[in-house]
Amino acid sequence: MKLVIDNVSKTYDNGVKALQNVSLEIPKGMFGLLGPNGAGKSTLMRTIATLQDADNGSIMLNNISVRDNKQAVRKILGYLPQQFGVYPKMSAEVLLQHLAVLKGLTKKNERNDMVNALLHKTNLYDVRKQNLGGFSGGMKQRFGIAQALLNNPRLLIVDEPTAGLDPKERNRFYNLLSEIAENTIVIFSTHIVDDIKELCTQMAIMNKGKVVLTGNPLQLMEKLHGRVYQKTIERRALDAYKKQYTVINDKLFLGKPIIHIVSDTVPNDGFVPIDASLEDVYFTQINP
Ligand code: ADP
Repeated sequence: MKLVIDNVSKTYDNGVKALQNVSLEIPKGMFGLLGPNGAGKSTLMRTIATLQDADNGSIMLNNISVRDNKQAVRKILGYLPQQFGVYPKMSAEVLLQHLAVLKGLTKKNERNDMVNALLHKTNLYDVRKQNLGGFSGGMKQRFGIAQALLNNPRLLIVDEPTAGLDPKERNRFYNLLSEIAENTIVIFSTHIVDDIKELCTQMAIMNKGKVVLTGNPLQLMEKLHGRVYQKTIERRALDAYKKQYTVINDKLFLGKPIIHIVSDTVPNDGFVPIDASLEDVYFTQINP
């Protein structure tokens, strides 16, 4: 199973070019779509999920055209949108049962087996009788995955799922997704670089509607090897450094700015060489 996105563009009625000639090949496994807010990630995901059409280009899931054969795609698609609403007064088990009926699981025994299996898989079995309104952010997201898996999808799309999760919940969620990705295409969008680093074997960075970089996170970091340097500077000197060097990252450490620069020659100005991080890769493409 492979998803091939070829030259896809989308301009909204207000003139915003949300996707510009986007092409990507996405194999089985965890694929991370990284980019700042407004990059076009949700637009791309909604288009893959058959919820809106692109203006041009094609998206093929194996030999199925997403635009021309929406029903066939929906049968093998699971989708967790960015805003996933739950009925707060329903229990996890009851809502999952309802959603299973809507997804065509009409045989009671099969449905019960599926619902129970998914409640176990997402670690919600013990709280299945509790109302969703009392669930934490992480539990809600795991419930969102459970409903997305009801039809045994071959393609699972999750849009910014880790926003608002605490580190423990996030880890649990990562583990769940990576288990699913062993035999499914999982596309995962985020603006959090650490999400990608921990989880994804392949990634794309999007900015302003375009794919600006694709590859394996480790290999992308290796490509920058030997070219990234770091220095702690005075805050007032930041602008001067930005003029003189390609500053890809500036952040505070104990209240003082630390800058990262990319340079093909060794800068002598007190800079020390460092191993490139995925964040450095990201900021070579996206201005900090
Ligand atoms: P991301 O998911 O990376 O934050 P989006 O796909 O949501 O990016 O948005 C890409 C661009 O398209 C943004 O400039 C956004 O404001 C705009 N946009 C998104 N949806 C719509 C819409 N329905 N109508 C008009 N503009 C939209």
